[in-house]
Amino acid sequence: MTDPELSPAAPGHPELSPVTPAGHAEPSPAAPGGGTEPVIVRALVARGSGAELRVERVRLPAPGPGEVRVTIRAAGVCHSDLSMVNGTLAARFPLVLGHEATGVVAEVGPGSQLTVGTPVVLNWAPACRACWWCRRGEPWLCADTTAPTVPRGETDDGVPLHLTLGLGALAEAVVVPERAVIPIPAGLPPEQAALLGCAVLTGVGAVRNTARVTPGESVAVVGLGGVGLAVLSAARRAGATTILAIDVAEAKRDLALAAGATDFLLSDDRLSKEVRARTESRGVDHAFECVGRAATIRAAWRLTRRGGAVTVVGMGAKDDMVSLGALDIFHSARTLRSSVYGSSDPDREVPVLAAELADGTLDLGVLVSGTVPLDEAPAAFDRLARGEGARWVVTLD
Ligand SMILES: [Zn+2]
Ligand SMILES: [Zn+2]
Repeated sequence: MTDPELSPAAPGHPELSPVTPAGHAEPSPAAPGGGTEPVIVRALVARGSGAELRVERVRLPAPGPGEVRVTIRAAGVCHSDLSMVNGTLAARFPLVLGHEATGVVAEVGPGSQLTVGTPVVLNWAPACRACWWCRRGEPWLCADTTAPTVPRGETDDGVPLHLTLGLGALAEAVVVPERAVIPIPAGLPPEQAALLGCAVLTGVGAVRNTARVTPGESVAVVGLGGVGLAVLSAARRAGATTILAIDVAEAKRDLALAAGATDFLLSDDRLSKEVRARTESRGVDHAFECVGRAATIRAAWRLTRRGGAVTVVGMGAKDDMVSLGALDIFHSARTLRSSVYGSSDPDREVPVLAAELADGTLDLGVLVSGTVPLDEAPAAFDRLARGEGARWVVTLD
């Protein structure tokens, strides 16, 4: 995901229009199955950094031109949401949390090509297809993606709402540009389909697109949250033969082995030694850092063989500085790079992953630790903060 502070304002984003009764603005044809009225839904809202999370009633505008309203079926509780609440990432408040979700198109604005009833996954980095990066085939670096700083809708007491990554998906519904939704087949388990929009696309893309892991290679994964576990399973599917799962919590061992790791290692003083003992003293071909901290980036660097690659998947704080020796950088001949949204084109790759989920070649059951109703989402954030489980998913009827 992008750092909100570094994102340019999105020139193409429709201006926030005040909530007006239907017919007040330019008349637009009522969508089948929907109206043109604002809707009031329940959503998980953070009122400030460190503030208690609460489920509140919020008012969403009717979808404007090229926009859709999506009824949310399931939304994952992702670490990036937590980072916005706890101040690791810059955020504006009040903020509706959530950016990893699946749902069904409930209403379309004028000019939308989508059909009411279409199942979709939300995309937090919809590409413009026109900027320099999009034209050279790197839509994950799009310069004109929906700006997360633009408010949409309002709270029950009339304060403009900010939406996490332009979505605010931990809610009964969202109103988003139609380019932020990706159609998927009907009938997928919602708690698994939701993960396609962030953890799975990010984890699979880091392995397939960024690092390009090939059969027989060795892999270490540092940090076993939802993304780290998705990296493990993608590494297994890519044919890696040594897959070392690393975390500070012993409780992650069984999850890691179930997700595809060949070995689990505790992140402690002996880590480098343990990794070298499993890689003929060289270190791994690929290390994936899935935490977003300088200390774990340095750990991943040290675990990697000469000439190997470190892929930073975790998103860290801007003042957490990574220090590496100049001679070490030269002598180790390692590559250090990041993987933004799995270096993926979500419009192309989410349907592929959804098809794999449908035919059973992709099984995300191990990633879902449990489902909870929206009212229990604050407790799920507490569990995430304590590092319990893989992914907690909020499901809505
Ligand atoms: Zn996420
Ligand atoms: Zn673009």
